[in-house]
Amino acid sequence: MTGKLHSIETMGLVDGPGIRTVFFLQGCPLRCLYCHNPDSQSFKGEKTITTEEVVALASRYKSYYKASGGGVTFSGGEPLMQGEFVLEAFKALKAEGITTCVDTSGYGQMAYYQAIFQVTDHILLDIKHPREEMHKEITGLDMSGIRNFIQEVSKGFDGTVTIRHVMVPGYSDSSEIIEEILDIIEPIQKKVDKIDILPYHKAGTEKYSQLNIPYQLETVPAMNQDRAGIFEKEINEKLNARKKKTLSRIA
Ligand code: SF4
Repeated sequence: MTGKLHSIETMGLVDGPGIRTVFFLQGCPLRCLYCHNPDSQSFKGEKTITTEEVVALASRYKSYYKASGGGVTFSGGEPLMQGEFVLEAFKALKAEGITTCVDTSGYGQMAYYQAIFQVTDHILLDIKHPREEMHKEITGLDMSGIRNFIQEVSKGFDGTVTIRHVMVPGYSDSSEIIEEILDIIEPIQKKVDKIDILPYHKAGTEKYSQLNIPYQLETVPAMNQDRAGIFEKEINEKLNARKKKTLSRIA
């Protein structure tokens, strides 16, 4: 089975637990205003990779995964747009004893979700924005995809989920938005280990001029890292308080 590939990173440290081999798949239905890899959005990429090649490359780093609790991450683009390929590759990786993680925005081929969840250990889930109109402005799409994905995760995924949110000044840097993100993930909050607030930054925007695409956030400043850190602390405290409240209700 063959998938469309954008690029590969070995020894990745930021896309899931431990040391990871990260396969960035080509193609994404979203058009995030701040996307750092606009060249990964098109579904017309030429590079391909087979499930056998994924397993062969990933297997070279087994000792690192073992020592660090790492494994393989499929990122993108949007990996779940190549549902059958992700499913087959994850099955093969699991057969080799390698743990799997998918980095998604929740906009994929729904028919494969439940089967993929059976062979996935960890999900990195991007919440672009919790408000319908802002989500549309930032990504070009409404929120039906992310809402469906969260429902599907709540029904059939037994692993852990890390939520990620790129915080853009003027778009989502407020305590109200923090609460609204928590509302959106409420159906899966017990599976969520933590929420990462990623401060919006301007690195990589030169790709837009290279590709001749206008960069619409030109006038928006980078997010202050310390402020993002304060929001990250706040959202994780609130998440834990919500989890505790649910547990005490059950007890
Ligand atoms: S979901 Fe990711 S790859 Fe797709 S447009 Fe947004 S930032 Fe880029």
